[in-house]
Amino acid sequence: MARIAASVIVLLSLFLAKPASAWGPDGHRLVGSIADQLLTPNAKQQVKTLLGVELREAGPWLDCVKSVHRQNDGSLAYVVDPQYEPPCTPFANDRNAMIDYASRNWIDCVYPEGASATANLGCHNTYHFDDVAVQRDKFDRNYAGTNDHDLVAATNAAIAVLLGRPAPPPFDIKDKKEALFILAHLVGDMAQPLHVAAPYLDPNGSLADPDVTHTIDPSTETAGGNWIHDKAITVGNDAFHHAWDDTPSDLGDTAPLALVNVAKAVPAHTDRIENWSAIWATDTIAVAKQAMSDVTYTKIGPRKWTISFSDRAAYLQSADAIKRQQLAKAGARLAEIVNHVWP
Ligand SMILES: [Zn+2]
Repeated sequence: MARIAASVIVLLSLFLAKPASAWGPDGHRLVGSIADQLLTPNAKQQVKTLLGVELREAGPWLDCVKSVHRQNDGSLAYVVDPQYEPPCTPFANDRNAMIDYASRNWIDCVYPEGASATANLGCHNTYHFDDVAVQRDKFDRNYAGTNDHDLVAATNAAIAVLLGRPAPPPFDIKDKKEALFILAHLVGDMAQPLHVAAPYLDPNGSLADPDVTHTIDPSTETAGGNWIHDKAITVGNDAFHHAWDDTPSDLGDTAPLALVNVAKAVPAHTDRIENWSAIWATDTIAVAKQAMSDVTYTKIGPRKWTISFSDRAAYLQSADAIKRQQLAKAGARLAEIVNHVWP
């Protein structure tokens, strides 16, 4: 039942695959930029040789893959969308690598019956997120909102390939270069609270618990916070999810020393590398509890919620601090993986 519930969430979230990309390109570049500044000289050299770019530029690659669309004749093509293209220009000479990756990771996951139209977006879109109920205290594969092609599984698969092992199915990661492009992105996604945890709601806007009820009311779906809106959060895209994708504007897209220093203070792992991905997800669920505290959800129509805060200014201030901490953690984690592989 948990699997069915998860599939429903995956299905619904896929409609918003582009906006739900977790951190904008600036966030993914910041994470890579932090890691670049924490690499050993050997790791730095290996990254440059393998990717041709530093981790900072590599961060957005996996979102650029979302510009690969299935054409009417069934073939895949990279379709330039001016809105999403700027961070993808470093890869313009090798779009075939993105098409190739997408083709190998297109349909190798289970879609709910009748979801063929949604499947046109490709299974690899689901690698970017989990939807664990925010009430949970840890990541567990048995919980609703998880599956074998989710963010935690995809991160582990990419780590395996970097360690010289095959990627477990349904993942098809052809080499270390592809694995590193994937990791440079997903380690960032893993630190965005709304990309790991989700608010499941009842029609009154109270938190529902899919792990207790074993059902999810599709009429209350929020698509990972993409259907929750607050006009005051951001100009343009006012979705709650998007507000958490946004990074503090003063950070730009290259990590300042202050942020790198926060990353340096992140404790190194004591557990084996195979467990890191689930440990990070558990950590992010705890952060998501903060991100979803002191908020009130109100259903105003199909696929449309509003959110309000007991103290908006305090909430936004807290969110700003959380984002800096999460970006720093992601940068430190990415560096730790790469330094582990190439000490
Ligand atoms: Zn992503």
